[in-house]
Amino acid sequence: MALSWVLPRVLPELARGLTRPGCGRALRRAASASASASVAPDFNSFVTRTNTCGELRSAHVGQEVTLYGWIQYQRQGLFLVLRDFQGMIQVIIPQDEAHSHVKNLLSNAPVESVVRVTGIVSPRPPGQENPKMPTGDIEVKAETAEILNSCKKLPFEIKDFIKKTEALRMQYRYLDLRSFQLQYNLRLRSRIVMKMREYLCNLHGFVDVETPTLFKRTPGGAKEFLVPSREAGKFYSLPQSPQQFKQLLMVGGLDRYFQVARCYRDEGSRPDRQPEFTQIDIEMSFVDKTGIQKLVEGLLQYSWPKERGSISTPFPSMTYEEALADYGTDKPDTRFGMKIVDIGDFLRRSDIQFVQNALSYPHGTVKAICIPQGVRYLTNKNLESLKESARSQFNQEIVEIICRPDGSLKSLLTRFLGEEQQSQLVQALNMQADDVVLLAAGEEKQVCSALGSLRLESADLLEAAGLVLRDPAAFHFLWVVDFPLFLSKEENPTELESAHHPFTAPHPTDTSLLYSDPTKVRSQHYDLVLNGNEVGGGSIRIHNAEQQRFVLEKVLKEDSEVLSHLLEALELGAPPHGGIALGLDRLVSLIVDAPSIRDVIAFPKSFRGRDLMGNAPDYITPEELKPYHIQVSWPLEEKEANKN
Ligand code: ASP
Repeated sequence: MALSWVLPRVLPELARGLTRPGCGRALRRAASASASASVAPDFNSFVTRTNTCGELRSAHVGQEVTLYGWIQYQRQGLFLVLRDFQGMIQVIIPQDEAHSHVKNLLSNAPVESVVRVTGIVSPRPPGQENPKMPTGDIEVKAETAEILNSCKKLPFEIKDFIKKTEALRMQYRYLDLRSFQLQYNLRLRSRIVMKMREYLCNLHGFVDVETPTLFKRTPGGAKEFLVPSREAGKFYSLPQSPQQFKQLLMVGGLDRYFQVARCYRDEGSRPDRQPEFTQIDIEMSFVDKTGIQKLVEGLLQYSWPKERGSISTPFPSMTYEEALADYGTDKPDTRFGMKIVDIGDFLRRSDIQFVQNALSYPHGTVKAICIPQGVRYLTNKNLESLKESARSQFNQEIVEIICRPDGSLKSLLTRFLGEEQQSQLVQALNMQADDVVLLAAGEEKQVCSALGSLRLESADLLEAAGLVLRDPAAFHFLWVVDFPLFLSKEENPTELESAHHPFTAPHPTDTSLLYSDPTKVRSQHYDLVLNGNEVGGGSIRIHNAEQQRFVLEKVLKEDSEVLSHLLEALELGAPPHGGIALGLDRLVSLIVDAPSIRDVIAFPKSFRGRDLMGNAPDYITPEELKPYHIQVSWPLEEKEANKN
């Protein structure tokens, strides 16, 4: 039966809750297939309330309703505000003798007690409407009530404007979850994931497959959590991502895989990191980079919440090299300008010693950023702190040039520069009156990284001082492509490590370089960046066992034995394949403009990776450790503490 025929007739019925058991199977299937897309959810099904507190409006006037919720506050035994996940409603406490029992109950119940109230919806007396409340035109006149659970003294008030420490919020996370903001964040996250499932599975035939979380160590990459086993000396590892499994699913002929996947990295928390986090993990056979990019653009457009505007596709793209040269980072925030400009050519003929020194080295460069209106918005202290941060973080000296209101330049450097050089500089950097230029000379990578970081720091300072640089409602997606396949290890620059992971395929035009000069090979790795944050990354994979073995053994010097199962699979009919993973927590936190990914995770870990509510990780007894053949070797100070 064609959906277009069925749906217009059945959906209005469903919305009003009028369908009866026994409808035809096709009708039910058709309705449920599109339910999440078209029908408002019925929040009152299966429960004994008639309505949610937040849904009541003037249209309900005259109806008897039964509501359940938490007491937000109560005033002088006259009225209270009842709250549930959908909003708040004013309840009038009856004052007459016949209802003295109800009055007694409701006037004495502590805030946050859970109550049932039955009453009549009435218009508020003229002049007493509250336009700030969606339910502000009405109130419920209580007739009966029941205290379902009286609340003890709270560790903090459940009010959005009351600031509490994050440690306390995490310890009582279930109370914090009652706040409007967390309710909104978690519900929005759920909606986005639902739309993603719909897009991937229903519209594009992806298969949702769960992969194991007990696995073994993977070479390279992030630190993994270990899980002891009952076999002496043997451990599982929690996967950093389902990378190997998703590739093996392609060898298994699944063709299109997706999973809302839990991943684990033992790296400690940062504002945008958690030891356990969630990825929208995707893999496809017979696909190229463009195919994956189009899929992700379509997926984000389809699942993008309407209240956050719309996003336009295709997303712009930039090479890794361009990103580093123009923004000093592989995740540029493209919401504002202040790009890094190469001014080496203009200064080449000057007599400035440190400039000449820098330019005499093979990777020497002179670059600068121009801070718009820096004179007006940045204090001398700000400028000093910017210079200090370049010095301490990047070992990079910075020279400033100020553009005076008359257009002339003020700097230590001006006496070394002729008029023509000065005007070339002004032009190259597009300097206007009151702009401040920060100039750096030295090794290219160091100069770019320092200026990239100063670009972001000065943007924060300008905004703190009142200049709007980045529209808080703007979402700038960007693909960064053509990463190098390998990077030098920081701790030992003569050794190489994968820029993404060891399964990433070389760029087709660079494949032969893999065997002659691997440092020059670009990869088929792509990152997705949103407002300067990496929100996704993936690659086209190596599907040839020989090439994979070469990368592992000869380039990365890894023991390929630990990956023998994958190498063998690549020899047994592996299709060409590629994929991507989107960091769901980070993506949602940017969509809702939350300061931390912890604000979009129901039960997050603290900075130190602890669960402050349940107190995990926790000690276990030597007895409990015995089956794992493990003994704890206590640090001395803890041994002492345990004695007391
Ligand atoms: N597994 C990769 C990651 O977690 C993503 C991918 O290559 O698909 O970053």
